[in-house]
Amino acid sequence: MRLVFILSFVLMALSTNAQTSASDKKVVLVIHGGAGTILKKNMSPEKEEAYTAKLEEALKAGYGVLDSGGTSVDAVQAAINIMEDSPLFNAGKGAVYTNAETQEMDASIMNGKDKNAGAVGGVSTVKNPINAAIAVMDKSEHVLLTGEGAEEFAGKNGVEIVDTSYFRSDVRLKQLKRVQDKEKMVLDHDGDRGDVNSSEDEFNIDYIEDKKFGTVGAVALDKEGNLAAGTSTGGMTNKRYNRVGDSPIIGAGTYADNSCCGVSCTGHGEYFIRNVVAYDVCAMMNYQEVSTFVAAQRAIDKQTDFGGSGGLIALDREGNVAMPFNTAGMYRGYITEDGELFIGIYGE
Ligand code: ASP
Repeated sequence: MRLVFILSFVLMALSTNAQTSASDKKVVLVIHGGAGTILKKNMSPEKEEAYTAKLEEALKAGYGVLDSGGTSVDAVQAAINIMEDSPLFNAGKGAVYTNAETQEMDASIMNGKDKNAGAVGGVSTVKNPINAAIAVMDKSEHVLLTGEGAEEFAGKNGVEIVDTSYFRSDVRLKQLKRVQDKEKMVLDHDGDRGDVNSSEDEFNIDYIEDKKFGTVGAVALDKEGNLAAGTSTGGMTNKRYNRVGDSPIIGAGTYADNSCCGVSCTGHGEYFIRNVVAYDVCAMMNYQEVSTFVAAQRAIDKQTDFGGSGGLIALDREGNVAMPFNTAGMYRGYITEDGELFIGIYGE
């Protein structure tokens, strides 16, 4: 038994090295665009290309900030803004509908340098919720603002406010109707394909076919050696009672501390809150002195045992990256200090 444990630990350590030395260069930015039942057989070449292109655009936007000496917080913002502005992901423009046919978005940011943090929950008029979270971090004495108060604060602090019609989407509305017909509540993308056949649906509505968590997130390491992590989401389709998930909860969906790593999660929020997953990765690194890879994998293994599906991205100050998930796939990618890019969608 003891031998098995030691052997599996050695294997884990080996795979840690395999992962972090994938390019032998320091990773400076890692992103995700949600995890779920993402299967190659359900993906058209056009759709795969669209996701890959958008992930690449987000990575390059964040990398550009870092390369020109910008902070990790600015890089996280740049990468997330690209994904928030795309209908492909469940954040900003692509946010899913609530039961009341509105959008309620959540976002958070944490700076690993000083552990300052900001978050917003249930905002409906903020074009880029991550920008509001950054405003809360930089310009208030608070960590988490919600609803109309958060929107008022964001507007007063120069964050772009839009009419709710900006978020309207026939594709997302169809998704809501289908979910409501089944009288259930789903996490972002859950259900079956049903009668969705138009080419627009074919392109955009993979969440009907699959079960996915389309939240977006980014973790960056800047030239000063500071980490930052951010997460932005529309939450879950058909949610009600102002439900808030893990994404705006510091420690659950997002965490960053230079002493360990930066983490952004995606998945079934209730489970990520209950296991305090993002902080759990850091705690394992600090208290058990395990690597980022081992800590991140253990956190997801705990989620599997607990019944919660999803994934996370983690990045430490040495540029080690981990991107574990217990779903079939996770939109993810990283970029190294030399601009080398990796993008992944499926599992093994
Ligand atoms: N974690 C998000 C939530 O529960 C959902 C997601 O990751 O897509 O609100």
